[in-house]
Amino acid sequence: MPARLLVAHRQTLLFLGAVVVPSAVLMALGIRTIRQDEELRLKRRSEERLRIVELARQELLARLEGVRLRATAGQVTPRDRAVGMLARFASGRLMMPWETAVADREADGAFQGALQQAERQLHQLRDPVGASAQARAAALKARTRAQRARADLLLAACLSAQGHQKATRDVVRGLLRLNPQPVDEFGVPYAFYATQRLLEGASSAEQREVLEGLSQALETTWLSPVAAHMAADLSARLGAAGLHEVAAQHASELERLADLPSVLPTLEKAGPQGWISFGKPPWLLGLTGQPGDPDRLLIAVRAQELLAAIRLPVGARWDLGGTTDATPLGEPFSGLRLAILPDPVGNRNGSGRLFFVAALLLVVSVAAFSAWLLNRDVRREARLARLRSQFVSSVSHELRTPISTIRTCAELLDMGRIGDTRQVSEYLRAIIGESDRLSRLVDGVLDFARTEQGERAYHFQSVSLADVIQSAVRELEYQLAQGGFDLRIDADPEVPDVRADPEALAQAVGNLLSNAMKYSGERRQIEVSLRRDGRHAVVRVRDHGIGIAPEEHARIFEGFYRAPLPDGREVPGAGLGLTIVDQIVKAHGGQVTVESQPGQGSTFSLWLPISEQS
Ligand code: ADP
Repeated sequence: MPARLLVAHRQTLLFLGAVVVPSAVLMALGIRTIRQDEELRLKRRSEERLRIVELARQELLARLEGVRLRATAGQVTPRDRAVGMLARFASGRLMMPWETAVADREADGAFQGALQQAERQLHQLRDPVGASAQARAAALKARTRAQRARADLLLAACLSAQGHQKATRDVVRGLLRLNPQPVDEFGVPYAFYATQRLLEGASSAEQREVLEGLSQALETTWLSPVAAHMAADLSARLGAAGLHEVAAQHASELERLADLPSVLPTLEKAGPQGWISFGKPPWLLGLTGQPGDPDRLLIAVRAQELLAAIRLPVGARWDLGGTTDATPLGEPFSGLRLAILPDPVGNRNGSGRLFFVAALLLVVSVAAFSAWLLNRDVRREARLARLRSQFVSSVSHELRTPISTIRTCAELLDMGRIGDTRQVSEYLRAIIGESDRLSRLVDGVLDFARTEQGERAYHFQSVSLADVIQSAVRELEYQLAQGGFDLRIDADPEVPDVRADPEALAQAVGNLLSNAMKYSGERRQIEVSLRRDGRHAVVRVRDHGIGIAPEEHARIFEGFYRAPLPDGREVPGAGLGLTIVDQIVKAHGGQVTVESQPGQGSTFSLWLPISEQS
């Protein structure tokens, strides 16, 4: 296996071992940790959810028990917003608050007689005066508050029929003030009927009084559905929007009473401590006392009211609609759900996960970047190895020619067979020329190496570029003559001197001249010019040789690079000449450019800055 491949192979293995494998392990561990973390988070969340639900449930039960205790002690009134209905429950039958009034009415014959007498006198005999007396007599016979209220209502009608408006209103006001309100067989407080009477032609002060009486009645009386509708109607007529809303809501709530008997067996089964959920918005139904107690009560608790009073942890809220994936409170509170948003602990875990993902991404990017660097290094190294071997073969080839020339000339001289002094001096000149070429080659390699390592020293001084060109040409005179080149120099005398190292610059121009010779074709003509172009002095070396393909223009300045030659031509060289030119010109703050097309010759230009003083 070639050494270059071995290096690449070893580096790939190294990369795999040092970066890819640890990254993969790290990634696998990271992903596993994230998964475990996620599972733990979910578990913790569901535990937390259950805990919150259990706490809420306990609190709800405690509050319900509170209501049950208060109901048992007779402390629950319609004023209590949490309670929607309180009814007597005995022998499996429900007795609504207003049904008690019916029982009262049926029980008393004497009072009934007096009242019917008064009614007949008022409506049939049209004798309001006699009717009032009868009504008063009935009032005296009344043994319950309901009977008294009925008698008063009739009395108000009699007084009104006689035109005693003030006396009528006094009676009605008295009715309104009753607390709690006595109700008729439909559960309607007698005061409501009286109010209807009072509203006709009442002053605003009287209306206010009526309103007060009405809202008080709502707070003190368990209304039947009919009574609630009537209260809603009355409050609407009085323009009391708030009161109307409460009454209307209550009326709609009471519509479910028709279904109540069907759930009574379930309620009884739930036991003395039990609760069942009923209707919508949900009522929680419970019973007081023990089975068989004659004064057991059925309590209907407004779930929403009670739940609103329970303080929930941040992020949790009641969900009675049941639309979300909220957690049900479980039996007996079917329909009651608690929606719990992801807790802050979960969010913290979320940011932890984000950190993991970021770390993983970082690892992957580092691995990818390292792979890219490695690939670049391997390619560069392979190229360098290729160039190095090219260089060795080029240099040895370059060395071989002058050495063999020198050797041949020296041997011929040594043999002493050449008598002609002109020929002797020609051989000697050849030896000198070839040794010069040798030392130039060695100097070139050394220069390149020194410049590459930043060790080359330049001695700047004011220099005439025309002189520099002359000295470069002088160096190559022998070879130019040998090659039969026609060299034309055209130096503008107006170009000012520049600050430069004359030897280094002469070397650069010499390299360009030597290339112009090497890569010339049939037309052996070279032009060297010196011109001023703005703030630069430009030395151009132009040949009419083989030219360079545009895609090679940038690369020919790279160390050891040699562009492929047309028709497999062979030209000696190490690929360093232009690199050295580039290094020297850059050290002078200038640059080297090339204009060339294959087959049309090349022009290399050295751009050197002209200093201010010049
Ligand atoms: P070398 O001449 O030793 O190969 P250089 O660095 O001087 O190295 O030149 C690099 C390459 O640029 C050459 O191999 C050649 O292909 C191309 N080149 C340089 N000068 C010329 C020129 N005047 N005409 C055509 N090609 C040239």
